[in-house]
This record gives sequence, C-alpha cells and structure tokens, in this order.
Amino acid sequence: MEKETFTFERIVELLESKGKKQEKLHKNAALIRDKIVSKNVYFRGIIEFSNFCKNDCFYCGIRKSNNHVKRYSITKKEIIDCVNFCNNANYGSIVLQSGEIRTKQFIDFVEDVVFEIKKRYPKIGITLCVGEQDKETYERFFKAGAHRYLLRIESSDQEHYERLHPKDMSFTNRKKCLQNLKDIGYQVGTGVMIGSPFQKIENLAKDLLFFKEIDIDMVGMGPYVPCSDAPIDNSDFNLEKNLNLSLNMIAVLRLMMPDINIASTTALQALNPLGRELGLKAGANVIMPIVTPTKYRKDYQLYKDKPCIEESSEDCKNCIIKRIESTGMIPCFGEWGDSKHFFKRKNGDIS
Ligand code: SAH
Repeated sequence: MEKETFTFERIVELLESKGKKQEKLHKNAALIRDKIVSKNVYFRGIIEFSNFCKNDCFYCGIRKSNNHVKRYSITKKEIIDCVNFCNNANYGSIVLQSGEIRTKQFIDFVEDVVFEIKKRYPKIGITLCVGEQDKETYERFFKAGAHRYLLRIESSDQEHYERLHPKDMSFTNRKKCLQNLKDIGYQVGTGVMIGSPFQKIENLAKDLLFFKEIDIDMVGMGPYVPCSDAPIDNSDFNLEKNLNLSLNMIAVLRLMMPDINIASTTALQALNPLGRELGLKAGANVIMPIVTPTKYRKDYQLYKDKPCIEESSEDCKNCIIKRIESTGMIPCFGEWGDSKHFFKRKNGDIS
C-alpha cells in the first residue's frame, strides 16, 4: 500500500468522515493495527489511588475547588491488594493514577509504592499518571521501577489550553515535562479530550500532528464528558458528535502512527454502552480495566456518568474480556504489551 501523507487538510477531511466513509476509515485503521501491532489487546489495570489535586482545571470533577468531592488517598496496603488482583487476573501491567500533588510526602509515597510493587511483582509493568513533576522526581520514579508515563497535553494549542486551565498552569511546562520523561527513558504517552469546550476540528488535526511531531509512544485520548460540578461552559456539548470524533481520532492516529499503543478509554463507554468496543474496532489496542477498590470509585468521577463505579474489579474483568472478544480481537494476558514504536525510536529506526 502506498504511504499516505497526512497533511493538515487531509486530517481534517478524515476526521469529518461519516457513514460509509467513516466505516471505511475504521476498517482501514483496524487492518493496519492488525498488521503492524497484531490483534492483541493489552491490559493496564488502573488504580485511581488518590483524588487530592493541587490544580483547578475548569473541566475536571476532582479539581481542587470542587467541595462536593470527598477526598481520599488509598493506603500502600490497599494498592498492593489491587496489584495482587491484577497479578492474579494476569493483566500484565498496571497504571497508578491520581490528582496532581507535588509534596515531598506524596513523592516519597509514590516512589516507595512503585519500589514495593516491583519487589513483590517483578513481572508487572508499571505506568504512572501523576501529573507534572520535577525532572528529579520523574527520575526517582523511573529508578524505582516505573517504565511508562502518561501525561495528556489536553490541547496542543496554547491558546485553547489556556481557556481550559487556570493561569497558574503552564502549557510550556507541560510540554517540557513530556520532553523530560522522554529524555529519562520512559515510554511516554499523551492525549487530549475530544470535544472539549472551545475546541474546533482544526485543533484536533493539530493535536494529531503534535503527537507525530513529538514522536509519542502511546496515546490515551477520550471524549470530553461534562462534569456537573465544573465551572466551564458546556452549552456546546454534543454527545453523538464527540463519540464519532473520538473514534475518528483513534482511526486517523492509527493510520498516521501505526506502531504506537492506543487506548480505548473508559470515557468512550460513558457516551455509548459499546464505546470501548467501538474504540477497538477503530484501531485501538489497549484497555484499562478499573481496579480501584469499589468504595472509592464514586469519588474519582472526573466526568458525569462514569461507568463501572458500582462494579468490583472482578466484574470489570469478566465484562471486559467479553467486550474484547466480541470485537474479534484477542485479550492478551501476562504481557507488558510495550509500545513497538518505543523500541524503534530507541534503535533509531525511522522507517
Ligand atoms: N493528574 C493527572 C491525571 C489526571 S486525570 C495528570 O495531570 O495527568 C486523567 C485525565 O482525565 C486528564 O488528563 C483529563 O484529560 C481527563 N479528564 C478530566 N476531566 C474530564 C472530563 N470532564 N471529560 C473527559 N475527560 C476528562
């Protein structure tokens, strides 16, 4: 097949695909995925271990000024129990996610937890998603045993980024963090919210070009879903549009960067009961089942109607396997499922 050049105009055109064109786009993306990274779906059990946050992102349910949220931090023992569940379920990898805190106590805690997990479960891959931190902190986490890091840029357009975030959050610093993570040797993931307030289709096309330009290894992007307690103007929210755009974003990204890992995110399921299956059919190859203890789930609602908050980790496991199998893909147990792109990047292969 001839290699296509993804110009800005071509990306916009593809993102707008509807009907038969959209079906073809998703099919092509799935075919490329099968050919380049296989039909395997890799698991990352996600542990949402704390909802304390120093940031006040205008769209987010756990932003610091939301007084309706009961704040929690789960203990080391509870985290280890979650990892033990993942180990028994043979998930291969876990993600530790939380709000953003930069205190010494928090950093020491994360480092210690990563170290302990690595000691007890050396075969489990560890991804961190704890926001913007100093380079030395990222280095400490890496040395303790984390090897992947997720930090969504949220929007690659500075002006748009600034409309979604308060003044004390810096777009430049967020980009710098992504570079630091890469320099340290992490497999680095980023992403955006699709359909967020003030966003235009041109922003999304630029986001895709940004992922390519920074040569990212993994992408986790999902639809924007309004959160009832957030101050941002949600009057433009359109569920159907956001769902379709999210799926088209996955598909176009797969065509542009065939060997990266792309997650089919939980937020897709908030918009459609079969959202995560649709994400896999559009070219994604990673699923992140929630393994947070059920009693904390209702307090980690970044957006309205988040699925799986009443379920147990066991329920989520059984449900997700069925969902994967229904798409014709293969649930892949006991493997890290690293980004192929990362190894090519390391070896200087730019083909
Ligand atoms: N503190 C970490 C983790 C943030 S929560 C960090 O800064 O990286 C994980 C992601 O949830 C965010 O990156 C954001 O893209 C997403 N999110 C927050 N509010 C959302 C909403 N209303 N709809 C959809 N996604 C949302």
